[in-house]
Amino acid sequence: MKITIASGKGGTGKTTLSSNLTSYLASLGEKVVLVDLDVEEPNSALFLDAKLVYSKVSNKMIPKWDATDCTLCGKCEEVCNFNAILQLPEEIRVFGELCHSCYACSELCPTSSLPMVPTKIGIINEYQSKLFSMVEGRLDLGQEMAIPLIAQTIKYVNEKFSNTLKIYDAPPGTSCPVIEASRYSDFVILITEATPFGLNDLKLAVETMKVLNKKMGVVINRYGIGDDRVERYCQDKSIPIITKIKNDKEVAKLYSNGELIYEKIEHFKNSLDEIITFIGGLK
Ligand code: SF4
Ligand code: SF4
Repeated sequence: MKITIASGKGGTGKTTLSSNLTSYLASLGEKVVLVDLDVEEPNSALFLDAKLVYSKVSNKMIPKWDATDCTLCGKCEEVCNFNAILQLPEEIRVFGELCHSCYACSELCPTSSLPMVPTKIGIINEYQSKLFSMVEGRLDLGQEMAIPLIAQTIKYVNEKFSNTLKIYDAPPGTSCPVIEASRYSDFVILITEATPFGLNDLKLAVETMKVLNKKMGVVINRYGIGDDRVERYCQDKSIPIITKIKNDKEVAKLYSNGELIYEKIEHFKNSLDEIITFIGGLK
């Protein structure tokens, strides 16, 4: 089973929830792996006492112009749907950040002047803590294409951890990287706050998951601040509220110290129990 934990915006407690939920599940004997797909800023490892056990370079295939036989016919620029190729009077320029590795230019070039070559975009790291494994995708600085790395990280996890519950910590927002981190999941947990901003971002996240036809449930974090509009919205849309995590300064303190919260705060652990019961009902 694969579960994505997502939120319409950053700072809602997504990583806190995914790392604590994974660790708690593992402490109960569940075979589980945490997958940090927030590839621009992966930080789950900071909260876990985990050792790096494996690293692998992640490449993206990008065309490389070879001037030798090129006739400057313009076909490559014409077929690229992503504006990644520009024909100049005397050369063809490839913008790797825009390239989606579709191979069209390379395969349709009449003189084979655009061979596809691997280009490093980041790394995939695997960590081992006492109870479970954690895998992260980490995009190189300056790289903009998160999607290929997210896809490769998911592939790595699927191959390495079969028959294991997978918890995906998605990037924040509702754009393409979040879609990539959610499209193969069996269930999406949307974490939000009961504030007007929280509601606004939740609505966007719900619409995105509906387009993907995903089953979803909501966790309200810092419950006690704000109002009841998030609850009313979920009721209206028939989206289950899985749990409400109480607003508690101690949680923030433990989080900023990089500590696991469920080990010290009972109501937080109770909320994780509610999530686990809910997930159990999905199996
Ligand atoms: S399609 Fe091939 S031959 Fe034509 S301009 Fe592009 S690289 Fe050159
Ligand atoms: S591989 Fe596809 S996306 Fe990349 S430059 Fe060629 S046509 Fe454009």
